[in-house]
Amino acid sequence: MIPVFDLQRQTESIRGELDEAIGRVLSSGRYILGEEVAAFEREFAEWVGTGHCVSVGNGTDAIVVALRALGVQPGDEVITVPNTAVATVAAIELAGARPVLVDVRSDTQLMDVSLVEQAISSRTKAIVPVHLFGQAVDLDPLIALAQTHNIFIVEDCAQAHGATYKGRRVGSIGHVASFSFYPTKNLGALGDGGAVVTNDSTLAERARLIRQYGWRERYVSDIEGLNTRLDELQAAVLRVKLRYLDEWNTARRELAMRYSYSIGRGNVALPCAMEYGEPVYHLYVVQTSQRDALAAHLKSRMVGTAIHYPVPIHLQPAYRRLAAPGCFPVAERLAKTVLSLPMYPELSQEEAQRVADAINEFMALG
Ligand SMILES: *Cc1c(COP(=O)(O)O)cnc(C)c1O
Repeated sequence: MIPVFDLQRQTESIRGELDEAIGRVLSSGRYILGEEVAAFEREFAEWVGTGHCVSVGNGTDAIVVALRALGVQPGDEVITVPNTAVATVAAIELAGARPVLVDVRSDTQLMDVSLVEQAISSRTKAIVPVHLFGQAVDLDPLIALAQTHNIFIVEDCAQAHGATYKGRRVGSIGHVASFSFYPTKNLGALGDGGAVVTNDSTLAERARLIRQYGWRERYVSDIEGLNTRLDELQAAVLRVKLRYLDEWNTARRELAMRYSYSIGRGNVALPCAMEYGEPVYHLYVVQTSQRDALAAHLKSRMVGTAIHYPVPIHLQPAYRRLAAPGCFPVAERLAKTVLSLPMYPELSQEEAQRVADAINEFMALG
């Protein structure tokens, strides 16, 4: 069986170093906001190319903290897309704002930036472009809009650690950005984790306070905050994994090349990589009108698949109040046609070839 994800392969490949890092934390007697967290924040900020990193409990909280650091308040609007992890929209509401959705492009499945200007109102405070599946959204037009309308760009980089846009890593381009270290992400902890990164020291300082009750000084809240911290154990694990991240992203790109080279052209559309940057293939998502049949065929050939995402946000029971069915035709169609193939650095080229062969066999069957 070739599973769609396999975390154990990665853990075993660096088991000795992980054991050592975990042992170091056990011996330190320090479990919250200690030296591992401080060191990870320095190392991750440097890796992304930002002046500051504030680690938090998960990627959802990273968006909440970023929005609150920007001063987002109840009544404000924040623009994002319906084709994303529900976390993006949940976080906007947790920050007190109203999510305003715009449709995505059918080729990249990313925010259609040409639709954003008409969604801006006098209450708009921020735009959250989601670098979905490991590919950057076209940020320059958004930055131009942000300047004209005096609003902020919060990059959701949960699926795009290391993806570039015009030579720079995502997370270093907007005003502030969020990352997730959920286990399956390109940089994944052995549990939950997240981070806010920015080049703006005032924003970083506010995020740092909000992460822990708004404390500047212990037990005295300067501003209203929450409790969302990365713990020392996860920081120590992430420091080990960060050293492999470039290598792992390269392996993902090579697997994507294998897929795009080997899967024959037919009724299966492959991911569209834009010229403006280099993706990191968090997921490798194909589109086909025969999605369910292809998934069943691959299963019969012992290949696991998944669907990201089966229901656009505005069609999910909790969020139907945001927009009516039919409002975002591209996102709605993608939900019926997308299929994620196995994609992780430990997948072998031979396994990827077997996946491609099974897809070609399906297309030959017509
Ligand atoms: C995973 C993910 C998040 C949320 O991260 P968690 O760590 O699971 O809270 C946010 N946005 C996107 C696009 C994601 O894929």
